[in-house]
Amino acid sequence: MITISNRLEKVTTYIPKGSTLADIGSDHAFLPCFAVQKGIISKAIAGEVNEGPFRSAYNQVKALGLEDKIEVRLGDGLEVIDPYEVSAVVIAGMGGQLISNILERGKERLQGIERLILQPNMGARFIRDWFEKNNWKLIGESILEEDEKIYEILVAKPTNVQNTFNDTERLLGPFLMNECNSTFEKKWKREKENWERILIQLEKALPTQEICERKELLKQKINAVTEAIK
Ligand code: SAM
Repeated sequence: MITISNRLEKVTTYIPKGSTLADIGSDHAFLPCFAVQKGIISKAIAGEVNEGPFRSAYNQVKALGLEDKIEVRLGDGLEVIDPYEVSAVVIAGMGGQLISNILERGKERLQGIERLILQPNMGARFIRDWFEKNNWKLIGESILEEDEKIYEILVAKPTNVQNTFNDTERLLGPFLMNECNSTFEKKWKREKENWERILIQLEKALPTQEICERKELLKQKINAVTEAIK
């Protein structure tokens, strides 16, 4: 069994057993290889847009003798899958803005997908925003620290009902706010201190309309986080 990071292993715990999986931006294909070896899934597509990581994924799958179970495809985002071809999609290890951009550009290919498991390194709010606009219901969230970096995992399923967040929930995550564990507190304490430093700098600048708006936004975020982690 290959060994993968705690981050990727945690992502695999959200893959429904027996899914057909697409791992978009698979790099070394560690995640689908692990999920197949663990018996969570029996079939997967590993998608990569870049030639180097595509080769790494292909070589990894071959080295483990999993070519009959994992197909490595070269392509941009969701263009490597057809509608109804897979039932779950993982996109991990990228910024939230890039992940939501991949979802937006490929959303017609999400037909038949029952589960999205997304692991942004930052900017999870862009993904929650995309869920709201595209009728995906957030059904779970996780936060974990590994090698001094903090990662979030967002899990969603399709819904017919409009799913909305308030500004604080969109920024912090409703499940994570509710749980408010020590990793969550650490992340947002760090962010808050960073915003406070920026605010002090902005207080010294000429109060143009743009500066005033930025300060107001920062104050709102600082208040929201103070309230959430108190
Ligand atoms: N998913 C792995 C993980 O979480 O460890 C690899 C993350 S790596 C930092 C990001 C990978 O996404 C890179 O291999 C990059 O080539 C790939 N990537 C970036 N944009 C992509 C896109 N539009 N479509 C497919 N792959 C993409």
